[in-house]
Amino acid sequence: MLSHPEEEKIMKIRYSYINTYSISDYIFSNKNSEMFLNLEELKTTITSIIDNLPSIIVKRFDETGWTLHITNTKELEKIYNLDYKIEGITDFEQKIIYIYARKDYIYSAIMHEFGHFIDWYLGYISFDIRWDNIFNTYKETMTKDYMKKIKFSSIFSDLIENNLLNSDIATSEAFSDIMSIYLAQSNTAIPNEYKLTKNDISYFDDLFIYMERCLLCLEYQNSPISNLTLYNYG
Ligand SMILES: [Zn+2]
Repeated sequence: MLSHPEEEKIMKIRYSYINTYSISDYIFSNKNSEMFLNLEELKTTITSIIDNLPSIIVKRFDETGWTLHITNTKELEKIYNLDYKIEGITDFEQKIIYIYARKDYIYSAIMHEFGHFIDWYLGYISFDIRWDNIFNTYKETMTKDYMKKIKFSSIFSDLIENNLLNSDIATSEAFSDIMSIYLAQSNTAIPNEYKLTKNDISYFDDLFIYMERCLLCLEYQNSPISNLTLYNYG
């Protein structure tokens, strides 16, 4: 009988749930729907999101020793010495992705942090000058002509406010944002409000081509071109 190694890999993704959030946290939260009511609900959500990722990402993530930690420590900013709010963080040294255990963070941040993992796996291609050029060309067109026409959902405000409208943008953040938009589109476990609408998606077409190529390279571990054989029928 054929085995299903990819399914096995998915099950090997480890996550830890550090503490359980307190009942008073839940009661006094003004956005209760964003919180998980119990650990089972958290597990189901995470598992279905991971199951609906392209399996090659999960495979590479697992075999390179990365883990995903869902946490409610509320301490990530302090631990990583950041003076701004985050939803999650990718720790390249420890090879750990941390995400706060809030529903909307999980829907939006897992894909973004996996974007950082893909960037890392591919040798930090977001630092390649060619990615800079591609993104800057896109940014110019977007900001000049389209921004006012497009009604992006608030979930992409990060990309727009921090990356498209900010001249000092970290190209790795732009890469991860766009990868996250790309991955979220095809992930059936992620609600539609975390995705682009049909009208918006065409603006991302060109960039999605590069994101797709990144996934192809995960598949072949290097450039797919090296696997091509050319025949001369002349
Ligand atoms: Zn990031």
